[in-house]
Amino acid sequence: MGSILWLRSGGASGAAPCAWVPEGALLLGLLALAGIACSSRPAQAPADLVLFHGAVLTLDPARPEAQAVAVRGGTIAAVGSDAEVLVLAGPATRRIDLGGRLVLPGLVDAHGHIQALGDDMASVDVHGAASVEEIARRAAARARELPPGAWVSGDGWDQNLWPGRAFPDHRPLTRAVPDHPVWLDRIDGHAGWANLKAMQAARVTRRTPDPPGGRIVRDAHGDPTGIFIDNAQDLITVARPRPTRDQIKESIRRSLARCAAAGLTEVHDAGVGDEDVAAYRELADAGQLPLRVYLMWNGIGPAAAQAASAGKPLETLLETPPLINYRDRLTLRAVKLMIDGAMGSRGAVFFEDYADDRGNKGLFVTAPEDVEKRTELALRKGYQVCTHAIGDRGIHLTLAAYRNALAAVPTRDPRLRIEHLQCVASADVPILKELGVIASMQPSHATSDMYWADDRVGPQRGKGLYAWRWVLDAGIPLAAGSDFPVDPEKPLIGIHSGVTRQDLKNWPEGGWHAEQKMTLDEVLRAYTAGAAYAAFEENQKGRIAPGFWADLTVTARDLRVIPAAEIAGAGIAYTIVGGTVVYEAPRVN
Ligand SMILES: [Zn+2]
Repeated sequence: MGSILWLRSGGASGAAPCAWVPEGALLLGLLALAGIACSSRPAQAPADLVLFHGAVLTLDPARPEAQAVAVRGGTIAAVGSDAEVLVLAGPATRRIDLGGRLVLPGLVDAHGHIQALGDDMASVDVHGAASVEEIARRAAARARELPPGAWVSGDGWDQNLWPGRAFPDHRPLTRAVPDHPVWLDRIDGHAGWANLKAMQAARVTRRTPDPPGGRIVRDAHGDPTGIFIDNAQDLITVARPRPTRDQIKESIRRSLARCAAAGLTEVHDAGVGDEDVAAYRELADAGQLPLRVYLMWNGIGPAAAQAASAGKPLETLLETPPLINYRDRLTLRAVKLMIDGAMGSRGAVFFEDYADDRGNKGLFVTAPEDVEKRTELALRKGYQVCTHAIGDRGIHLTLAAYRNALAAVPTRDPRLRIEHLQCVASADVPILKELGVIASMQPSHATSDMYWADDRVGPQRGKGLYAWRWVLDAGIPLAAGSDFPVDPEKPLIGIHSGVTRQDLKNWPEGGWHAEQKMTLDEVLRAYTAGAAYAAFEENQKGRIAPGFWADLTVTARDLRVIPAAEIAGAGIAYTIVGGTVVYEAPRVN
């Protein structure tokens, strides 16, 4: 029954049976299913796109490797040898000679922040700036590109790089940019630097008191110098106008173009509000989403705080029914929660003290009982839940919340996820498996954090740091991502981390906690089939097989034959989504 239904729809969009043997349609359809195209005559409708002379890694057990792929109507029509597939090309078919390049099922980033990347791209990058004057120059250059009065934002300054190593004050910024408010985040996000216009816009004066948990740096006369520490940063940032719908759309477009160039065919956006969703829908309606996007509602924090920041409470957001594959690009069926903080700032929640900070076990961002309540609510509304949980106790309590929520709302296929899972207790690995929880992990976080992560947790807990091997060996589904812009959006960097557990300078020798390394095949599956499963898309995505979405990533060099140390720089030749080439490297052939 399934095959017959598939054949009927196949006539319009999939692998059409050859018209000259009408009675044999079922058999030929099955052959097409197995990836064998009709070889003696052209098929009824020519393919839109044929990729040939490639090394196709299908991740399809029925046909693990092939040379060529034909695409029709956005899905894969045939996979096979050059001879088998090229017969599907007609006069209007685009043919791409891959010159032996590697074709993978379209890579997915299962956890990224699309708008944050787009905003970063448009802001002033002052990382590495060696003087206050250099920063002022960069801010002024940006201001000249903006309409009068628009805010100039940026980040990355670090006074430790300057002569004297003292905090700056507003004056050089005010002199260089007198007419635009300027706000620049320090490299660690724990301080911000404002010019006079920004302080005026925020109505901050010498009479403004320090807020709880924050400090306004003041000069000898008591006047704010322009430096705002921790919670005092909010005094300025609340004055920044919220982005307009058009600005949100522009940021998404900019970010997705970057993601397409990195070889991504889909991103799971880990936290959006209702304005963002409206922007995504408009972009989808206009045919302006090059990539597929899988959205998670931002359900973080107390409802009151959400309301105060003009975000709607989760209860209201979930009145919107899930949206599945809208305009062949957009899905909204998940909720992002966050139980604890991060390990770098010692906010992740552990059973025992931080090894390098006695008395500190971390901080809950959301109370565990609230995680449970929100999970219940989401399950009732047909939504998946993806909870940021990093410390061993944060992970343990998230699993307990999931167990209780599933008891209250029995759900056939919930696919609850834990985002990050950075330091798991070995005793909790079987619980992940038992509850069917998906591990959504970021290979490059391991190699970004390895310089200090052992100091935080010590040798015993350290065995569970970024423990992909434990996850895979227990048969737990693993989805890979980058958490961009925290780490670069480039999946090749994550693939390198997953295989080597080394940084880009091949440090440390042999790899950090090398027993957790993945094979290339495993890490590729985590970026394709694993991420597809995490989005309920395993029947459309994650393998190159007839009837699947024509989402493909072509690398410039073959990841299977180059030294592992060269994977991160292997290059992307083509990114294809739904049969459309959304990125093509310059001078690829
Ligand atoms: Zn994130």
